[in-house]
Amino acid sequence: MNPVNLALRTFGSLVSPSGRNGRLSILIYHRVLKKADPLLPFEVDAERFDAQMAALKAICNVIPLHEAVQGLESGKLPSRAACITFDDGYADNHDVALPILEKHNLHATFFVATGYLDGGIMFNDKAIEIVRRAERNDLDLSGKGLGVYSLERSEARRKAVAHLLSDLKYKPLEERNEIMDSIAADLEISFPEDIMMTSSQVKALHDAGMEIGGHTVHHPILSRLENAAARKEMMEGKARLEEITGNRVRIFAYPNGIPGRDYLVEHARMAKDLGFEAAVSTAKGVSRSGSDLFQLPRFTPWDMDISRFSMRLAANLLQTDFATVGRS
Ligand SMILES: [Zn+2]
Repeated sequence: MNPVNLALRTFGSLVSPSGRNGRLSILIYHRVLKKADPLLPFEVDAERFDAQMAALKAICNVIPLHEAVQGLESGKLPSRAACITFDDGYADNHDVALPILEKHNLHATFFVATGYLDGGIMFNDKAIEIVRRAERNDLDLSGKGLGVYSLERSEARRKAVAHLLSDLKYKPLEERNEIMDSIAADLEISFPEDIMMTSSQVKALHDAGMEIGGHTVHHPILSRLENAAARKEMMEGKARLEEITGNRVRIFAYPNGIPGRDYLVEHARMAKDLGFEAAVSTAKGVSRSGSDLFQLPRFTPWDMDISRFSMRLAANLLQTDFATVGRS
């Protein structure tokens, strides 16, 4: 083993021993691209993901999330426990990530928004595809209450995506989709239909031994919905995944996942009420015995450089104080 990983492993064992004092790291990914994409600078490609999985395996004990939840409950986590999770249900999770996970013999949990399976596309990807496919030097959306975005070079296109997403993120989901669809129609752009998984790819992940988790139907910001609508999103997503996999769906991930902003304590209670056994947020940090099982934090070591990735993975073990919305 390389000396850096060996040192980090030793550090990890001190900070995160087995048993009641163990600390659980839950990693969060969205996509694993076949090849790097200039419009998706924060998504890993296959080669980097492969290197990250090798480092993760060298430093941590990767266990299934469901087992980790039981370990937190019973005070029996292994030392340096870590879990791998994916959000949203991208087709590359099946096509690119699964073979790499299998090569390293690693388990992961996939949180799938069921409304986009079988040919759908999420709002953020609509924005990316509009910018990618617009064959022009600028995109004038002032008629739609948005700005004028330069598309001249990759850097400008990246910025255009970031601005579009942040300008629209907290508008109601339907409105966001309507705006994107009308821009696409104006520019005669059609969206790809193979970005998200098919139902059979979800089933294939499940049959390969992976865990499938709930992530609502349409990926709304739960805090922006009436309680009945939020509950329906969570319940129907769960039911659909159970129909696809033929198995109980035990874990939930809040869309966007920031405590107090994207979800509230009532959503944590709903998750419990609907029969989930645990839920994950996107607050950074590590869980310990006694952590709220319906608000487990997750983080991404975002460094593309592999030794920095490893260092950040180890450094995160010290971050035990993380955001929640009160006890579920
Ligand atoms: Zn998501």
